[in-house]
Amino acid sequence: MGWAVAACLGLIAGGILLRQWRVVVSVSQGLDRLALGQKPKLVRAFPFGPVGRLAREFNAATIEIRAQASRRERDHSQLLVVLGAMAEAVVAVDPRRRLLFANASAHQLFGLDASSVGRLVAELIRVPQVQEAVDATLGLESPATHQAELVIPGRDAAGRAVRYLSARGSPLPGHPAPGVVLVFHDVTELRRLESMRQDFVANASHELKTPLASIKAYAETLLDWAIHDESVNIRFLERIDEQANRLDQLIQDLLSLARLESGQGAFEHRPIVLASALEPCVESHRDRAAAKSLRLLFNARNFPRETTVFADEEALHQIFNNLIDNAIKYTPEGGRVSVSCLLDGDMACVEVEDTGIGIPRDELTRIFERFYRVDKTRSRELGGTGLGLSIVKHVVQSIGGQIDVTSRVGSGSRFTVLLPRATEGQGGVERENQEARQTGVWTHPDPAATRASQD
Ligand code: ADP
Repeated sequence: MGWAVAACLGLIAGGILLRQWRVVVSVSQGLDRLALGQKPKLVRAFPFGPVGRLAREFNAATIEIRAQASRRERDHSQLLVVLGAMAEAVVAVDPRRRLLFANASAHQLFGLDASSVGRLVAELIRVPQVQEAVDATLGLESPATHQAELVIPGRDAAGRAVRYLSARGSPLPGHPAPGVVLVFHDVTELRRLESMRQDFVANASHELKTPLASIKAYAETLLDWAIHDESVNIRFLERIDEQANRLDQLIQDLLSLARLESGQGAFEHRPIVLASALEPCVESHRDRAAAKSLRLLFNARNFPRETTVFADEEALHQIFNNLIDNAIKYTPEGGRVSVSCLLDGDMACVEVEDTGIGIPRDELTRIFERFYRVDKTRSRELGGTGLGLSIVKHVVQSIGGQIDVTSRVGSGSRFTVLLPRATEGQGGVERENQEARQTGVWTHPDPAATRASQD
């Protein structure tokens, strides 16, 4: 009997020992997994003694480690999404100049892909300035932040031959630093706008100075001696008047352009009978055309008289006065200028055609730039400011139209303007918009309304 009890107790003690042994083995396996960077598994609970405490504490630590790992995984994937969505190119490089990481923008900018990781940056990005930026950030003795602007070859979406990148390098945290991260920001468009602004300021001041210098010279000459010389005084005063008019025109054009670019003075769109708006515009140039013995024609024969466009009357006058004025200016005596109306699907089309000097093919796109003239001297002599077509292009775009030009040197030019035709109900929308302009409450998202509400 005693022997049987002893055997029973022995079996129970053996079972308890076996369970304790299993707990210890599971904890040991869990620690191995941890050492390998894997997530540990929970061990079976054991209720008693130090092994029971070991199991409980190991499980509590495992739950915490798992939660931390999940948080790290979530943060990591969020970080990858953020880096992937960044417009800036981000590249991380280790101290041996091997690629650690590149985001989607860096893939696109430098032609990298997933297989690039681990390879030498000098092999992957064959732009010496990028290697210089990496070297400068890693430093000779210790890494330090580095800022530089790089000019790299390669075309962007707009087809520009070089790109300007601002690069900022920072060491990765750690001692010694496990590498550097470089952020490249494409500033090509910024540089282009800056250079356009500088050109504009230089051109505008030059254009303003020229008539001013003339006025000053004539006025000084008159004050010095010419005021009483009847053979020249009237002529000099006429020159002053001419140059003052030019200055006035230039300032008006500059102000129009500034207003258009800032979106101020929004046009009031309403359905306008196109032919009726154009005819007086053409007529107002008849005397100037006659003075140059030019035939000025208005052709709306195959154009339904009642066709309406959704535009602003002042805007239409600005467009066609400029185009007809240019056609007359750049057509030699005895030539012809014609203004024709046609239908083109949903659009109404107006062509201003002349038999003038024409425009060289490679300058056709440039004539819409501010101050661009094919022949500066001739334009100035004819009273041009070089801003007319730039204003026309802006106005056409702001009323939802398009402008195009074809030309042949020595034969003439044709400017084609497409304007959106008014649809039924636009008059009503416009009436509400007019009211809204007074009340400040907008109900219809039409372009004029949006612009006006922003002003
Ligand atoms: P401008 O005040 O000098 O006429 P624009 O901006 O109106 O300035 O035109 C820009 C340039 O385009 C002109 O200087 C001229 O060289 C050219 N141009 C414009 N219209 C015509 C045309 N109908 N025929 C020939 N050249 C033209």
